[in-house]
Amino acid sequence: MKKDDITIIKMAFVNAFLVKVKEGFVLIDTGLAIHWEKLESELMSAGCLPDKLKLVLITHGDFDHTGNCAKLQEKYKSKIAMHKEDSFMVEQGVFLKRKVRTLAAKIFFILRKLKRRKFTFDKFKPDIFITDGQNLKEYGFNATIVHIPGHTKGSIGIITDDGILFAGDTFTNMRKPDIATYIENSGQLKNSIARLKKMNIKTIYPGHGKPFEMESIARQI
Ligand SMILES: [Zn+2]
Repeated sequence: MKKDDITIIKMAFVNAFLVKVKEGFVLIDTGLAIHWEKLESELMSAGCLPDKLKLVLITHGDFDHTGNCAKLQEKYKSKIAMHKEDSFMVEQGVFLKRKVRTLAAKIFFILRKLKRRKFTFDKFKPDIFITDGQNLKEYGFNATIVHIPGHTKGSIGIITDDGILFAGDTFTNMRKPDIATYIENSGQLKNSIARLKKMNIKTIYPGHGKPFEMESIARQI
């Protein structure tokens, strides 16, 4: 896969990724519900018409990654795939309490409470549950799912055959490349990162911030 095959759709502080695959596209995460128009215009300008969108992959159940799933199901008839462990979050509209590692993340937590309306999203029922080791070839995407709990129980990564990891919030790059700033289970996060380190990963595309090389963070994790 070439880097040109990946369009980063930045919606305020969060990324979605439109990946060109064989005969169509796969969308990874969907941003905040308030950014529907931005998402739709990016899909249009990439030539991603509803029948070209083969699959929507959700890295985890947080509202800033799942905000437009209900609309994609309704308007694009898209199939939404995610890990079963996070499905209660999107089906019931739950935002998990988590340990917060940085001051900026603490401030964001407080802001979120104050601006609750801005961050709401339509609940939805996922169409497909994906599991660890699952291959995405049937969608024309040369990549594999890796279950990496820690940020949430149902967090997944998507690893392409040529070493790109779409990491969700297991990694972040807001100021510098780092591991998750919100943690549901530190033990699980540690194990997940240890597992990823053993895999053939060159470049990380985080849910927040710019892509970075695995090499730049490998020594400190
Ligand atoms: Zn996030």
